[in-house]
Amino acid sequence: MKKEISEFTEELAANGGSSATLCYQCGTCTLKCPSAKLMTSLRPAHLMRASLLGLKDEALNVDALWQCTTCYTCVEWCPSNVQVVDVITALRNIIVANGDLYENHKKVAQSLIKNGHTVENNDKIKVLRKGLGLPENPETVMDNAAAKADFDKVINLTKFTELVNQ
Ligand code: SF4
Ligand code: SF4
Repeated sequence: MKKEISEFTEELAANGGSSATLCYQCGTCTLKCPSAKLMTSLRPAHLMRASLLGLKDEALNVDALWQCTTCYTCVEWCPSNVQVVDVITALRNIIVANGDLYENHKKVAQSLIKNGHTVENNDKIKVLRKGLGLPENPETVMDNAAAKADFDKVINLTKFTELVNQ
C-alpha cells in the first residue's frame, strides 16, 4: 500500500501536480470555486487532500475532476500557492493516459480536431452571426495554412487524436 501511494505521488508530480503537497486544507479553494456546488463527489480541497495523501482511487474516480472549468479562482486565493489547476490537470492526464476521457470533454476535443475550435457552431449562432454581418462560421486555425501546419504538428506530437479516440 505504501509503495502504491508513493508511486501515485510520483506519477502526479511527473504530470505537473507536485504542489498538492503544499496544501494544508484551509478550504479556501472550495469556498471560492464557482463550480464547487456542482461537485457532489469531491470538492477542490478534498481533491487536493486525496492527491497529497496518494489516494489514487479516490482522486481519479470522481466526476468533480471534470467539472472544474480551469477558471483559476482557487489558485488566486490559495494562501499556500497550491497550483490547484495543475493538480487537476495532472489527474486528468493520468486518467486519459489510462484510456479514459469524460464524455463531454471527448466531444470538445473531437470538435477541436475536426474544426480547429472547441465549441461546435450551430444553426442558432449562424443566424446571429449573419444578423451581425459576419460570416456564418468564425475563422479558425483550419483557414490558415501556416497555423494549420503548426496545429497538426502539436496534434501529432501529443498523439492527441489517438488519446481522444481510444
Ligand atoms: S486553498 Fe490551497 S491550502 Fe487551502 S485547501 Fe485549497 S489548495 Fe489547500
Ligand atoms: S479552477 Fe476549477 S477548482 Fe479552481 S476555482 Fe475554478 S472551477 Fe474551481
